[in-house]
Amino acid sequence: MRIFHLSAECYPIAKVGGLADVVGALPKYQNLAGLQAAVVMPFYNRKFVHENTFDIVFQGTTLLGTRRIYFEILKEQTDTLGFELYLIKVPGLLDRENVYSYPDEREQFLAFQICFLDWINWSGQTPDLVHCHDHHSGLVPFLMYHSNLYRRLAHIPTVFTIHNGQYHGAFGWDNLHYLPEIDFYKTGLLDWNGGINPLASAVKCCWRFTTVSPSYLQELSISSNGLEYLFYVERDKGVGIINGIDTDVWNPETDPMLPEHFNATTVAKGKQKNKEILCERFGLSADKPLIAFIGRLVTEKGSDQLPAAIESSIKEHGDKVNFLILGAGDSATEMSLNLLKQLYPQNCNVFIGYDESLAHLIYAGADFLLMPSRVEPCGLNQMYAMRYGTMPMVRSTGGLKDTVIDFGDDGGYGIRFEQVTVADICVSVTRAVVLYKDTRKMQTLRKRMMALDFSWDRSAKEYMNLYESLIPKI
Ligand code: ADP
Repeated sequence: MRIFHLSAECYPIAKVGGLADVVGALPKYQNLAGLQAAVVMPFYNRKFVHENTFDIVFQGTTLLGTRRIYFEILKEQTDTLGFELYLIKVPGLLDRENVYSYPDEREQFLAFQICFLDWINWSGQTPDLVHCHDHHSGLVPFLMYHSNLYRRLAHIPTVFTIHNGQYHGAFGWDNLHYLPEIDFYKTGLLDWNGGINPLASAVKCCWRFTTVSPSYLQELSISSNGLEYLFYVERDKGVGIINGIDTDVWNPETDPMLPEHFNATTVAKGKQKNKEILCERFGLSADKPLIAFIGRLVTEKGSDQLPAAIESSIKEHGDKVNFLILGAGDSATEMSLNLLKQLYPQNCNVFIGYDESLAHLIYAGADFLLMPSRVEPCGLNQMYAMRYGTMPMVRSTGGLKDTVIDFGDDGGYGIRFEQVTVADICVSVTRAVVLYKDTRKMQTLRKRMMALDFSWDRSAKEYMNLYESLIPKI
């Protein structure tokens, strides 16, 4: 069974968030399970691309609106990532350094989708199934089934995975000319609320859609930035499959980014050593409980509540707790956090920016990982944290709800709270501070969470069952 995953991000080529981690791992585990899974993504002018060798396997031209564009498909020679990797290169459009935030992002991702379809249409590289990820490839199902140009692809099943339903990639109907010839009777399948909405179109046109956790599937009918009714109507087409984590990359016993390796037996000593190195770097004491946050500083992640919650907790617990934040995003939150760092240098430090190896060190060295998310489709951070023996403190939403059991409940190992408020975050901090003093209990809980299985094997199997349920329909 030959599967093409289509995505804007893939670790380690280009990563902005969890989408990259998933697309960089799932195909590898699918291949181990006997599929032939490949990743197709835009070409980025980045380290991985310069350090590896690629063959040009296809060249062509196509129309993007009134513009004829030249494109190349490059294949990485050795399948070093455990899957075939194809990059689509369009000079001036798909050969940039960053993934997002260009003024012509719409043309960028339309070019990506159209070149992909042209390639599989003309090259004979026909897959058995196309698996699209997020809105950047959301128009592919519509175009495969309702564009006259791609009639020969119309029998191929498509699966669409929603990693983040808040972003739709919508644009106005005045941009219709960018799309290849389509069946005009079907334009309703592109539309939501008077515009072309790639996420909505994908949900309507794909054979099945998946969300990255079962709880998130339910929540999309309640909150999805205007698509609630669509998710309610299409609910039977959806299935929630929790993400796995790449246990080869995220392994405290072998992680090359850690100064000290450890496993469930040596966790106490190993964590302490990493914590000391981390705390020394950030001028914090390694004797206090260290509560960390890693992630984008955006409303979705509840990061706007962090400055007030941290200040209140420091006032409440005096010198008994430390905080360390790694992230970038909203400038008001960045400023408030930097101010906290100046006000309470003994208790709080902040690193504004993106730093993969620092993230690994924090997962290993912190005692608790705070995730006060308003929306969390799956969340990978809590799973990385648990693999590194760090207790997650999470708001009960989406994938956080599906992966973390409160330590007060049967078999539990984490801290859960209900609301994204300063009050709820502070209560969870108090619980963490009290729990930290009970060394024996902390040790038991760390071992318990490190024994959990968040590997991709289980999730990869669920995707495989889904694919198998679609292929016989051809
Ligand atoms: P999302 O995709 O919504 O940002 P996820 O939890 O799915 O959230 O994935 C976040 C990923 O990005 C994790 O691998 C996390 O470690 C990483 N990450 C987020 N922000 C940073 C940062 N500032 N520095 C390093 N890694 C980060």
